[in-house]
Amino acid sequence: MDTNTIVAIATPPGFGALGVIRISGIESIAIATKLFDGKKLQEQSGQTLHFGRIRNLKGELLDEVLVSVFRTPHSYTGEDVIEISCHGSPFILQEILQTLVDAGAKLAKPGEFTLRAFLNGKLDLSQAEAVADLIASESKAAHDIALNQLKGGIKNQIQLLRLELLNFISLIELELDFGEEDVQFADRSKLRNLLKEILFEIQKLNGSFHLGNAVKNGIITVIAGRPNAGKSTLLNALLNEERAIVSEIAGTTRDTIEEKLNIQGVLFRLIDTAGIREAQDQIEALGVQRTMEKIAESSVLIYVFDVIKTSKIELHRDLQSLIKPGQPFLVLANKMDLNPTIDYETFTDINLDKENIIPCSAKNAMNIEYLKSRLYQVAIGNQSISTDLIVVNARHQGALNKAAQNLQEAISGIETNLQTDLLAQSIRQALYNLSEISGEITNDEILGNIFGKFCIGK
Ligand code: GDP
Repeated sequence: MDTNTIVAIATPPGFGALGVIRISGIESIAIATKLFDGKKLQEQSGQTLHFGRIRNLKGELLDEVLVSVFRTPHSYTGEDVIEISCHGSPFILQEILQTLVDAGAKLAKPGEFTLRAFLNGKLDLSQAEAVADLIASESKAAHDIALNQLKGGIKNQIQLLRLELLNFISLIELELDFGEEDVQFADRSKLRNLLKEILFEIQKLNGSFHLGNAVKNGIITVIAGRPNAGKSTLLNALLNEERAIVSEIAGTTRDTIEEKLNIQGVLFRLIDTAGIREAQDQIEALGVQRTMEKIAESSVLIYVFDVIKTSKIELHRDLQSLIKPGQPFLVLANKMDLNPTIDYETFTDINLDKENIIPCSAKNAMNIEYLKSRLYQVAIGNQSISTDLIVVNARHQGALNKAAQNLQEAISGIETNLQTDLLAQSIRQALYNLSEISGEITNDEILGNIFGKFCIGK
């Protein structure tokens, strides 16, 4: 590991009430001492805070500051760490940073503090990744998932699965030790069941990725329908404000508009699209094409139709062409205010769950709260985001996938009386895959990839 003492500004660029500079490494206290006019930092114990002045190496006063002292191993990185809390002026921050570099610190690379925390065993790799997710989280749900992972949710589960596999492999390897004697200590059907249980847990984790990824990035929700169905009005009603252009001229929302909506702590990215119909000109044709692309990328589709103007045949045709098998969707019977007694349910003669057809008046914001609750339900279902283990990281999902494949091979191997050494090989491979998630097995390229995406100072 790099043993340099590193330094970086930890707060975002720009002016603020406070700015923080962080130093980590064996020399951090000695280096900070060269700038600090106050108590002798080298004599201070860990987790203490000291007021004083910071001067550059020529002795010129830069700012009045608070300095926090953390001593190894009780710090974020596990090393000696100093945090200087100064006034949030980009000029002061730069001057202090430069002075610390002049005094012997090296500028930190992106994510280098967290990398050190990982290398010093303060965090496993899944927790280090959770730090980045926590900073980037835009909603309560994304925050809950990241926090759960940071607290060790994924780490503990992976450790548990690894332990079970290790027990398994020790039995198998005992048989191998007996070489030619062809003994079987381990009851094959028990082994098979055990592997199936582990596989089930891995698949459960893996299955959560679809939701986890959607929650992390915001659930892409496309609002589609014919021109003038009321899509823009609906978007405004959902957002409770005037954003999208509402107009009586058909085909006005030519391109897509995206807005964010928070429902019960989950971020939905609402995308209002150009109306679907036979395009009147080239720009509109492009809009329709874009709508179809957006629908293909969406997690949830809200199809809006005008209950007065839409014929059953048109509706039928639209639903047939838009809704793909397995696609979560809602059908919104809009403009119910114009004819409240209309039997909107009979419009949809294709087989639809009645709960998914919602009568509403976008213009009068009628039934919008119900729509939001249904939207949450079709996107999230009954999963508890704050307590369930949810995988949000594509790297973890990739490793879980590989582990599942290897376990599947081992299970088939048991069923076909495969040689013990080949069986052991598949299981060792699955163990390896799980170790990649926690970072017990890793390499510079993987680490570079993960930490390179962090911000500097983290
Ligand atoms: P879009 O083309 O699907 O985005 O439709 P707009 O939102 O621009 O609405 C088209 C027209 O329908 C506008 O004149 C809206 O005021 C009107 N409209 C939208 N929703 C309703 C509704 O629930 N009731 C009534 N009466 N008019 C609506």
